[in-house]
Amino acid sequence: LRRIDGRAIAAAIEAELQHETRRLRSRGIVPTLAVVLSTPSEAAGWYTRAIQRRATAAGIACVVADLGEPTGVSLETELARLSEDGAVHGILCQTPVPAGIRLDEVAWRIAPAKDVDGANPLSMGRLAVGLPAFAPATAEAVLEILHREQVPLAGTPAVVVGRSAVVGKPAALLLLREHATVTICHTRTVDLAGVCAGADVLVVAAGRTRLIGLDHVKAGAVVIDVGTNPLPDGSFAGDVDADAVGARAGALTPVPGGVGPVTTSLLLRHVVEAAARAAAAP
Ligand code: NAP
Repeated sequence: LRRIDGRAIAAAIEAELQHETRRLRSRGIVPTLAVVLSTPSEAAGWYTRAIQRRATAAGIACVVADLGEPTGVSLETELARLSEDGAVHGILCQTPVPAGIRLDEVAWRIAPAKDVDGANPLSMGRLAVGLPAFAPATAEAVLEILHREQVPLAGTPAVVVGRSAVVGKPAALLLLREHATVTICHTRTVDLAGVCAGADVLVVAAGRTRLIGLDHVKAGAVVIDVGTNPLPDGSFAGDVDADAVGARAGALTPVPGGVGPVTTSLLLRHVVEAAARAAAAP
């Protein structure tokens, strides 16, 4: 079993970004990400600080708009304001959003050019029809890992477990774009193990600890575990029972240290891409 080192991949991406941000800064452009916090959440606060730390190291400015507990209207107003702000290149609206508000209903206010986490439904629509768009960073992290591990995708049977708008669906679209033969599983899937066992690439984003065991894995399969399930001791577990599948899988992303770190670097890469594009625009 090859354990895929997400932290090493993230470090490589961020080293590439440093180079690009230096080039932009020398032209007076400071790539800038705005993170919107719309409800008090320990996890969102923790993730925001991690983004800030890594953004700063990569030469990206990160401003935090902490709105407390906004209404749907004031959250939309803030997203629209940031979309208009020429000094901001990327916008990330952290979840959770306050009760009664759906992120996918307010995210249309994020200008697609700044929609670095693919939250605006227009971004997903563009992705689905094959137009340029930012994909959600987590879904793109799955593809980035597969590319860097040189996993062949064209014609490859790939199974995605999970159909959420933030991970499963966009990951399936991105795999399809690479010509994989994609199957999407969810809670109504009959014989999950049997379907998964047909996959050379298995992407799991269900949010269920130890959902995937030995019976779900084909010999030699590459398994990407997106699951990040909080445990009582404060640590996290993936959706894959790593001890069980280790004997059969060809490669596996660990949790933590797999998809998570790569997600943050791709979010940052999107900010740099957005800044470079804004600078090139007439
Ligand atoms: P979600 O919105 O709860 O969606 C979970 C999906 O998994 C749903 O489509 C659900 O099917 C399916 N599912 C749940 N239990 C299943 C089962 N027993 N058998 C088959 N399918 C099942 O979750 P999410 O936001 O996509 O997140 C998924 C996981 O990824 C979570 O652990 C989350 O913490 C993690 N995550 C990680 C990152 C990262 O950067 N590493 C980022 C985002 C999310 P139905 O549609 O039928 O309900």
